[in-house]
Amino acid sequence: MPLQKVDHIWMDGELVAWDDAKVHILTHSLHYGSGVFEGIRAYTTAQGAAVFRLTDHIHRLFDSAKVYLIDIPYTREVLIEAVKATVRANNLDACYIRPIVYLGYGEMGLNPLPCPVNVSIAVWPWGTYLGEKGIREGVRCKISSWQRHDPNAVPIAAKGTGMYGNSSMAKVEALNAGYDEAILLSPQGYVSECTGENLFIVKKGRILTPPTSAGALEGITQDSVTTIARDLGYEVAESNLLRTDLYLAEEAFLTGTAAEVVPIRSVDDRVIGEPGPITRAIQDTYFATVRGEVDRYKNWLEHVNV
Ligand code: PMP
Repeated sequence: MPLQKVDHIWMDGELVAWDDAKVHILTHSLHYGSGVFEGIRAYTTAQGAAVFRLTDHIHRLFDSAKVYLIDIPYTREVLIEAVKATVRANNLDACYIRPIVYLGYGEMGLNPLPCPVNVSIAVWPWGTYLGEKGIREGVRCKISSWQRHDPNAVPIAAKGTGMYGNSSMAKVEALNAGYDEAILLSPQGYVSECTGENLFIVKKGRILTPPTSAGALEGITQDSVTTIARDLGYEVAESNLLRTDLYLAEEAFLTGTAAEVVPIRSVDDRVIGEPGPITRAIQDTYFATVRGEVDRYKNWLEHVNV
């Protein structure tokens, strides 16, 4: 699906026309993957557009930049306001939001420290990442032949643009083999996460998700779903998982800002089955939450028009 064009993109403090949001070919991050970024969603609520956990996403952006020794030349408050302003400027309600901090034009070579730091925020309407059918009926996953990063090779706690080569290799391999999504294992052989989503299974009624030490990003949806599941009365724990834990799971699902909450119906052709009751309950609460229909989680929504 081609990107759906809107009017404006925020670039270094200004709203520029979509078609003018360009960078020089010698932009450092284009060559060395030296940027950090976020993926955020805004949803339609009764009070208009609201950005889901915006402040938490901006904090993670600053954490990612800290890991890469990048000084973002704006405060968190400025970027939070800039996200809201960009959504407003494009008259959007529900949309995807992509802030990126990248090293720009001016220096080349593998020392990034002298490079100028640029910031941009793009927004566009983006439907379900793994498809409506995936959300309803679940997706078919394949364990990738590509491993998740070793944390001493690439910092997995940071959403660095360069590390997504790994996710892309795994995604293409899975799609070419006829699956919807890949699951990557850590160098130690434990289940890590999907290409852009965290993963949960249900085993003996308990909900388990791999820890960051297995190479998973600390997902904001993972955190929201953990809170929702506990509030629904389920036990949730972080646990190292083996691939056979996936094959034999009672239920499984993946979570991410773009993908939202998506059931997993099979892994390597071992059928887990139709989306189960725990997955459904969490999914239903998550979708009601992002629409502002659940009072106890209303503080996760940051309204654009206030
Ligand atoms: N893992 C990876 C590798 C991701 O790129 C993402 C998306 N940011 C996630 C997990 C899910 O994180 P979140 O729920 O914060 O979007």
